[in-house]
Amino acid sequence: MGTDGEGIGHVATEDGRSIAVFVKDAVMGDTIRAAITKVKKQYVYARLVEVIKPSPYRVEPKCPVARPCGGCTLQHVSYEKQLDYKWNKVKNCLSRIGGIEHPEDLMEPIIGMENPWNYRNKAQFPVGRDKEGKVVTGFYAGRTHTIIDTPHCDIQAEGNDTIIKCVRDFLQEYNISTYDEETHTGLMRHILTRVGFTTGEIMVCLIINGTKLPHADVLVERLRQIDGMTSISININQDKTNRILGDTCKTLWGQDYITDYIGDVKYQISPLSFYQVNPVQTKKLYDKALEYADLQGGETVWDLYCGIGTISLFLSKKAAKVYGVEIVPQAIADAKVNAQINGIENVQFFVGKAEEVLPAEYKEHGVYADVIVVDPPRKGCDETLLQTIADMQPKRMVYVSCDPATLARDVKRMGELGYQVEKVAVVDQFCQGGHVETVVLMSKKDT
Ligand code: SAH
Repeated sequence: MGTDGEGIGHVATEDGRSIAVFVKDAVMGDTIRAAITKVKKQYVYARLVEVIKPSPYRVEPKCPVARPCGGCTLQHVSYEKQLDYKWNKVKNCLSRIGGIEHPEDLMEPIIGMENPWNYRNKAQFPVGRDKEGKVVTGFYAGRTHTIIDTPHCDIQAEGNDTIIKCVRDFLQEYNISTYDEETHTGLMRHILTRVGFTTGEIMVCLIINGTKLPHADVLVERLRQIDGMTSISININQDKTNRILGDTCKTLWGQDYITDYIGDVKYQISPLSFYQVNPVQTKKLYDKALEYADLQGGETVWDLYCGIGTISLFLSKKAAKVYGVEIVPQAIADAKVNAQINGIENVQFFVGKAEEVLPAEYKEHGVYADVIVVDPPRKGCDETLLQTIADMQPKRMVYVSCDPATLARDVKRMGELGYQVEKVAVVDQFCQGGHVETVVLMSKKDT
């Protein structure tokens, strides 16, 4: 299976070569009939036409729209096999790209979920109308902006259906226009919901192409009857853009934010804040990062790409000092609030690019680190940053990654710079989908 969970088979060409065929929705072990859709020099793409003999790993998806919906790319694969696939994906990257000989010797068993459903604490449903003029909400079909009507979604927090139904009924009843991307007309764009899994607090934010929601008082009155409702707001996005949220939020009722906990650290989450979407697995991920950091209480730690300071705050209780660096100013503002509401004083945050802030702090102020944690976006770390980390000579580096390919590339580079991989943990944060999170512990080689 390929990096997006697609099946890979091979066909023999007339001149005796073997060509890879990528087939979405095909499972490892299936015998299938496929129709070729696109031919490249070295490989071809094909569409699944018929499963002739199903793979033992194939299961009936729980969701009726699993196949057209772009969300769950692996729902037709048994959960056990999904975990196996993800662990192997990391292993293959570490050996092929990372140049590590037997990565399996360093890898812990994958950390999956006991119940791999209803795990998401955040949903962003696009809103539109079908041909009959009925309001539809759901998810985009893979690689398109066609809305697949999904009144129920099995990976979302339970309780979401009630909220969505309430808003849908309201839009229908009061004939509120829905947004059309093509013509950039219509009011209602997206419904954003968030739930604090430990607090039960609920946030609903309605993203509109306008400044005012007609009959908002009626909707508020209905939504606030829902148990746990804490924050109802509108977000104004009048731009012709793929970006879901605009910059301005107005609270219609309740607080501007909800709160949630990861472990015993409390976080304030506003509609615009970044927050991990699978809180159960995030706790396990951060526990791993903490375990690998092996803090005894006296250490200086740098948390690069710190977002709203989640990992920084999580580590701060076991360290002497934690420095966080993040490029988005709003995230750092949130990080500071989060430090404050937890009474944490041994953290300091910097706004800027990790690959600029760390080298500058090191060259100009000679800053020091016992442990450096990085959690970069998919493109991985910048070469300048890796070089600076090596120059600073921390005892350990903990690399949290959402893309095993760039992780492996960076691990290889750190190997050249004197750091070796000690342990690898794979955490399934996105059950039923193809993405995977990895934590790697690297330590300075003895020289
Ligand atoms: N560690 C956080 C967030 C990780 S997501 C958590 O666990 O919640 C990656 C973060 O890196 C995002 O917040 C993104 O805004 C930030 N980022 C992207 N490029 C960056 C760069 N060059 N320097 C610093 N931060 C960056």
